[in-house]
Amino acid sequence: MEGIIDASSLMTLLCVGIFLLENIILTYTFLKPRRGIIFQAVVFVLTWLILLSVRFIVVPVLPDSLLRTYILGSIFLVPVVVIFKDSFQAKLFVFYMIFSLSQFTLLIFSYADRFLKPPMSGTYVLIGLLIELAALPLIRRYLRNPVRDILTMIGRRNPWFTIFPFITFLMLVNIALKRDYSVSSFISLILYTLIIFFSYYLVSVAIRESRRRAELDILSRTDALTGIYNRRHLEQKIQNEWERSRRTGSVFSLLIADVDFFKSINDRFGHDRGDIVLKTIASDISRSVRAYDTVGRWGGEEFIILLPDADDLSAAETAERIRKTVESRVYEDADLNVTLTIGSAVSSEKDTYANLIKKADTALYYGKRKGRNCVISYEKINK
Ligand code: GH3
Ligand code: MG
Ligand code: MG
Repeated sequence: MEGIIDASSLMTLLCVGIFLLENIILTYTFLKPRRGIIFQAVVFVLTWLILLSVRFIVVPVLPDSLLRTYILGSIFLVPVVVIFKDSFQAKLFVFYMIFSLSQFTLLIFSYADRFLKPPMSGTYVLIGLLIELAALPLIRRYLRNPVRDILTMIGRRNPWFTIFPFITFLMLVNIALKRDYSVSSFISLILYTLIIFFSYYLVSVAIRESRRRAELDILSRTDALTGIYNRRHLEQKIQNEWERSRRTGSVFSLLIADVDFFKSINDRFGHDRGDIVLKTIASDISRSVRAYDTVGRWGGEEFIILLPDADDLSAAETAERIRKTVESRVYEDADLNVTLTIGSAVSSEKDTYANLIKKADTALYYGKRKGRNCVISYEKINK
């Protein structure tokens, strides 16, 4: 008789040990620790000591050992909060998510224990925990990134989603405390678990999908070589600005900048060097304008700069600043000099949207004929 008692408490100890080990490994899978190993070990040991002492006080008040386990188990939230550097919401989320996961394993296999009646009670629970232990690398591989995705989403703008794992935890606790070990409870347990897993899956797919869309959206607006906006986005922006100025009566200006003798730069220094020059010009132009101006690559070696609320004078100032910045840039090749000719046009009530681009282009070619490396305003050449 005594031998059996020993074996069964050994079994319990083994199960509790594996259960804790799994929970700790899982926590480290999803969260990032901030302190040294020794600090972490001390915090865990302290938690254990606190847990054991609290247990003595709690036993008479809470005779239900299962309920006690759940309440005391939540004390492990403390080391999780202290050790890891993620947001509090993320820690809470991970803690109860893992608690639910191991809770689920524990429950499923205690049902198996009841249904199949092994010679030694707890055998299936042990098997279940060992299976989970063996599956940890898989969990790490397939769940780590989706869970981390969910965590970044919670941290940023969905704090209420933090409660979700806590609710799933309560759902499982509710089933556990029923202790009726009926087939119908078992089916509820399985269905709850499926709902839980599907919810996580749905959320992570939604996050991935929206990130993919955001990336595609950026790609569809960006010029691959220079990283500034592409022609499609520029057209959209000019159209929007044109409509806005119609509505509000505001003016805006448009600059077209074309690199001088770029063909000969390509010929002398090679096409790759030419590409680098284009990138450098793009970044120089971007640095020379205000935050709400739009800079994009119109084509080959031509750039458009859209200047909302800028009249002819301030457009000319901006264009001149761009021209000087590009001219004064020193390249590795000592004899490489890069200059721009810039045409500018200001919106007027009579203009159509295409007309405005044509005006800036006319000014640009006037500048080219005049000798390049200059700023020409369409309004000036028509005076
Ligand atoms: P202008 O002063 O009259 O503007 O002379 P230009 O040589 O700059 O004008 P042209 O239109 O004759 O030449 C433009 C050159 O730009 C020709 C083309 O090979 C080059 N080019 C266009 N796109 C790219 C690119 O993406 N990379 C490189 N390296 N060159 C490009
Ligand atoms: Mg050109
Ligand atoms: Mg050119």
